[in-house]
Amino acid sequence: MIPFVDLRAAHAEVAEEVLQGFDRVLQDTAFVQGPDVAAFEKEYAEYSGVPHCIGIGNGTDAIELALRAAGAPAGAEAVLPANTFVATAEAVVRAGLRPVLADCDDDHLLIDPASAEAAVGPDTAAILPVHLYGQQAPMAAVQDLATRRGLTLVEDAAQSQGSEQQNRPAVGLAATSFYPGKNLGAYGEAGAVLTSSPELARAVRLLTNHGSEAKYRHETLGFNSRLDTLQAVVLRAKLKRLARWNELRRAAAERYDKLLSGIEGVRLPRTAPGNLHVWHLYVVRVPSRDKVMTSLHAAGIQAQIHYPTPVHLQPAFQYLGYAPGDFPVAEKAAAEILSLPMHPHLTPSQQEQVAETLEKILNHL
Ligand SMILES: *Cc1c(COP(=O)(O)O)cnc(C)c1O
Repeated sequence: MIPFVDLRAAHAEVAEEVLQGFDRVLQDTAFVQGPDVAAFEKEYAEYSGVPHCIGIGNGTDAIELALRAAGAPAGAEAVLPANTFVATAEAVVRAGLRPVLADCDDDHLLIDPASAEAAVGPDTAAILPVHLYGQQAPMAAVQDLATRRGLTLVEDAAQSQGSEQQNRPAVGLAATSFYPGKNLGAYGEAGAVLTSSPELARAVRLLTNHGSEAKYRHETLGFNSRLDTLQAVVLRAKLKRLARWNELRRAAAERYDKLLSGIEGVRLPRTAPGNLHVWHLYVVRVPSRDKVMTSLHAAGIQAQIHYPTPVHLQPAFQYLGYAPGDFPVAEKAAAEILSLPMHPHLTPSQQEQVAETLEKILNHL
């Protein structure tokens, strides 16, 4: 059995620190907004090279609150890629906006700036590039589009913790998720907003905490979506290992590249020039994908699909009025993509087994 992720192995590395931290919180009973929350926010801001980090209850709320803090007016449109986890689109709707979708490029499955540009109209207020699978969207082009058209730019950085891009514009506003399976994963729900703007940081902080800075004075209608103190303890311990874990993911990706490059029918993932990839997911493309995945599962290899159905073909988003064929690159990819086991504790022999099994399956299609 080769698991898709190994959260137990990650826990083993941090167990002592986490349990000591939990004990500290339990003794102090500082369950909400305890000192570990502020400490993690400071540490994650430093790690990310962005001045402000605000802990949030989960990544979906982080995207919504970032959009709300930036003041995207209700009823306006927001452009986002068709191939993303549904939460990007959900958060847009919950912020009172209408999702308008863009296609992706065929090599990296990142938002296609030309398609995004074509999606921008007079009512567009925001654009949300998604740093899918662990590498950043083409930020120079996206930033240029946002500046020319006066759009609020919110990066969906849920899958890209620790990623870098050469010559990219500084982060203005980004949202991330610490869902357990992410590169930096909590032991429950958690997320954050990162921003270079003190005004936006203050606005997000107000929204997370009932619209309140001073106790029982509510300046604006807010939410209850704060980073939990126990999750902050976990995240502080894991953050210390994140750079090394991302290195291990990169080494595993290189090993997969070598093992799979000679196999007929497998299309390897590609890193866009200038990107430092953190391999949240290692996504190959194969023919007869569903059959291949079923056979991998039968051989004890956990593979998954991220994501089988683009946003515009989801029942929840039918009201947007899109049809099959509207985003051909994303739709073709959705039928071929296959995420192989990827995590920092994956061993070379497990990867060899994945490659051998995949080759056998493809040879017998
Ligand atoms: C995980 C994820 C989210 C949502 O995060 P949650 O913490 O689960 O709410 C949003 N966007 C992308 C691309 C994600 O992978």
